[in-house]
Amino acid sequence: MKTIQTQVLIVGAGPVGLTAAMDLASRGIDVVVAEIRRAGEPPNVKCNHVSARSMEVFRRLGIVQHVREGGLPADFPNDCAYRTAVVGRELTRIPIPSRQDRYTATGGPDTDWPTPEPPHRINQIYLEPILFACAEAQRGITILNRVEVDEFDQDDNGVIARARDLDADQDITITADYLIGCDGGRSTVRKLIGSRLSGTDVVQRVQSTYIHAPALKELIIQKPAWMTMSLNPRRCGTTVSIDGRDNWLIHNHLAAEEVEFDSVDRDWALRTILGVDARFRYEIISKEDWIGRRLVADRFRDRRAFICGDAAHLWIPYAGYGMNAGIADAVDLCWMLAGVIKGWAAPALLDAYEAERQPITEQVSHFAMNHALAVMSQRRAVPAEVEMDGPAGDAARDKVGKAAYDLNVQQYCCAGLNFGYYYDRQPMAWAISRRPQYPAHAHRMSGSPMDARCSTRWARPTR
Ligand SMILES: Cc1cc2nc3c(=O)[nH]c(=O)nc-3n(C[C@H](O)[C@H](O)[C@H](O)COP(=O)(O)OP(=O)(O)OC[C@H]3O[C@@H](n4cnc5c(N)ncnc54)[C@H](O)[C@@H]3O)c2cc1C
Repeated sequence: MKTIQTQVLIVGAGPVGLTAAMDLASRGIDVVVAEIRRAGEPPNVKCNHVSARSMEVFRRLGIVQHVREGGLPADFPNDCAYRTAVVGRELTRIPIPSRQDRYTATGGPDTDWPTPEPPHRINQIYLEPILFACAEAQRGITILNRVEVDEFDQDDNGVIARARDLDADQDITITADYLIGCDGGRSTVRKLIGSRLSGTDVVQRVQSTYIHAPALKELIIQKPAWMTMSLNPRRCGTTVSIDGRDNWLIHNHLAAEEVEFDSVDRDWALRTILGVDARFRYEIISKEDWIGRRLVADRFRDRRAFICGDAAHLWIPYAGYGMNAGIADAVDLCWMLAGVIKGWAAPALLDAYEAERQPITEQVSHFAMNHALAVMSQRRAVPAEVEMDGPAGDAARDKVGKAAYDLNVQQYCCAGLNFGYYYDRQPMAWAISRRPQYPAHAHRMSGSPMDARCSTRWARPTR
């Protein structure tokens, strides 16, 4: 049996585990990351929005340029368009600057970010290999691919984890001072620390299909958009441009009464969302049927073991914030863990992690679910006139477009979600008399405790 010793064992090399590893290593902590997947094996095509807060974290870790340069082509608009179908009539558009205009664009709802690192759009299939390469190159990080952690014990001195090298069929023992479970929604670590998820099991079912369809861009007569929401009375859906050229991810949002994924014909739904007929050719790259939930763990820690990211909370990806909240968990925990390991902080500091992050993730989970429910009822109310010619059609399109803009601008241009929150249940210095309310959308720097703790004076980069 092989034995490995480290200061922190991280289970899972998704975006949260890799960020935690880089944060700890940047503070001089030795880290081992165990990951079931092969080195460089891409994840499912899911997350696209990297928040301003996460981009600030990547800046501090010295990798933000790599992330900013990945994803959509530099001039591809990051806009969200609302149309009757992807190739149909446009109802409204939320303008979001392309990568090349990110630092110079003015006006519109998404240009006035109080940070030098505004949000970025890059799909997880491109983001994760960047994070992996940066983490792998960093001193102090060892990534063990094709290694699954099955169980662990802990006592006052540390953690002993039992893992298996899946290719060599060999047992591995990993001893560490602390363990962080960043092992996703089905987290083994969450179960092992006796933590339970609670909330809403089903908010919405979604049939997702990732396709290669080079002909689609020729059929779209409007300005390109990163995300296109199809609103028509037959089938509403979301189409995401993954590479800005030929690859598209189509989410078919099932109605509440469609409880079986197979009850809706995938090809029909996809063609209706795109607005193309039977002659249109596409190739399926991958497909996944999934359930949007709102679940938060009742505890984020058992003594020397912690959970971060999807292991601790899962919600329907409205506002695109699951990974970003997980990255915020990781950086919140890692500076404290480094302080305790290095000896300049008392172990009691670690109590702050759950006290800070659990209430925030609970709040965001409700925002995401409530927003999803509002969007679902808006989709159900799309009138047939929206596809008609003439004044009645124009009036319907104006009305549906305005309602879609007003409802959704807050989730796509969400400065409040990034910078508005603060921690009012923490065992550290701040005494806060009332829980502040913050909107997801607008935010100005306020001098709140979070701002104070992150009070580095940023200068806008010249790029
Ligand atoms: C359609 C969709 C769109 C989304 N869009 C966004 C978005 O725009 N923005 C956003 O912030 N979030 C978004 N999300 C959510 C985001 O994808 C997740 O929150 C994110 O992947 C969570 O990262 P993680 O590192 O916590 O977990 P994961 O990405 O699930 O990674 C966990 C890793 O742990 C490994 N692992 C599991 N068990 C073990 C074990 N026992 N031993 C070793 N390794 C193990 C797994 O192989 C995996 O690599 C979206 C989700 C969906 C479904």
